[in-house]
Amino acid sequence: MDLKQYVSEVPDWPKEGVSFKDITTIMDNGPAYKYATDQIVEYAREKEIDIVVGPEARGFIIGCPVAYSMGIGFAPVRKEGKLPREVIKHEYDLEYGSNILTMHRDAITPGQRVLITDDLLATGGTIEATIKLIESLGGVVAGIAFLIELEYLDGMKRLDGYDTLSLITYE
Ligand code: AMP
Repeated sequence: MDLKQYVSEVPDWPKEGVSFKDITTIMDNGPAYKYATDQIVEYAREKEIDIVVGPEARGFIIGCPVAYSMGIGFAPVRKEGKLPREVIKHEYDLEYGSNILTMHRDAITPGQRVLITDDLLATGGTIEATIKLIESLGGVVAGIAFLIELEYLDGMKRLDGYDTLSLITYE
């Protein structure tokens, strides 16, 4: 299946110069959503994944059906102030200002093989922060799966040394 045809490209949103890749038109199409999920499940099986981790909110949309399909768990990465129990934090720089991501301290058991999922790789800042959180809990990042990779933003450079899967790419 050519998944790219199900992505909606929205020019100049949320601001001028950005071509927003809207994945809701993959999600609301049963066969396309299932195909994308199945591709990532196959990859996760190869990597012998124990648990899936995804950053809010679109990382959940990709990661939760993968975890359900494999009968394994899913642990959320969320912005500061959203998770109710003891968390670890990682702060990273954005174009303007910074962002803090958190995970529950007991979300991962040391040595667990983790798959990170997200909708889209842009600059790689979000996933780099997610890797830091997982590794500081003793998890092993065994794979990282995206629906979409924006190759022109070079986010892969920040994921050097990690195994990745991108189902759709834009040059
Ligand atoms: P980044 O940390 O720069 O790799 O991007 C963080 C998140 O921003 C991605 O996971 C996407 O959810 C969102 N994002 C960034 N650029 C785009 C885009 N052009 N279209 C859709 N979502 C985007």
